[in-house]
Amino acid sequence: MSTQKIIVAIDGYSSCGKSTLAKELATKLKYSYIDSGAMYRAITLYFLRNHVDFSDHSKVLDAIANINISFVYNEQTQNSDIHLNDENVAPYIRDMIISEKVSEVAAIREVRSFAVAQQKRMGRKKGIVMDGRDIGTAVFPDAELKIFMTADPEVRVMRRFKEMYETNPHITIDEVRHNLELRDYIDSTREESPLHRADDAILLDNSGLTKEEQLKIVLNWVTEKITPTPKGATPQY
Ligand code: C5P
Repeated sequence: MSTQKIIVAIDGYSSCGKSTLAKELATKLKYSYIDSGAMYRAITLYFLRNHVDFSDHSKVLDAIANINISFVYNEQTQNSDIHLNDENVAPYIRDMIISEKVSEVAAIREVRSFAVAQQKRMGRKKGIVMDGRDIGTAVFPDAELKIFMTADPEVRVMRRFKEMYETNPHITIDEVRHNLELRDYIDSTREESPLHRADDAILLDNSGLTKEEQLKIVLNWVTEKITPTPKGATPQY
């Protein structure tokens, strides 16, 4: 594959499989992978642990000044763990208590400015796959490849349920469904960079695709982006 590095921005609704695809794609391309949702989850964890009243903008700003987020490679899992002020918080950020509050926190302007500034810095050298809700629209509006993922709502509910059930056998399908619907609603209707498909994003509905099939499709898109189209030829998508 070419040595030219690009930015791949993957956006979409909750539990569409964005992270799975983004992680596999980054591994194949030898790019870095950044889970931007994990950043909002870590900030939410900080707010909850420190009882930050996030309806108060000055309290939010004070709190943000004390937050440092980094991604640290874990040899054992061969994945990056998210660290909040030098603590590995990866084991806590997927809890339902975080999922219930994260969209409210992510809708706060000061929180977004903080997270987006760091995300932009991480993409300066390109060679990055980032997934989230506003990556192709606000973080990297000039990304060479933008993908907007979607999947049948019930497929998404069952995917997230199975994932959460492993660590919380008391979780119910209804709880998961309610949480996904609520987050999608808040994420797409908020004032600050709401979730929507960028005009130049390619739609990927993976309801009926295996992980291998979707990866193959997307790797072809990457190849098309880094291989100049001969003059007069039409791109294949
Ligand atoms: O991707 P994940 O589901 O972990 O994201 C958790 C929440 O973080 C989303 O529901 C959304 O509210 C917020 N988010 C965001 N912008 C991003 C990524 C995530 O607002 N780029």
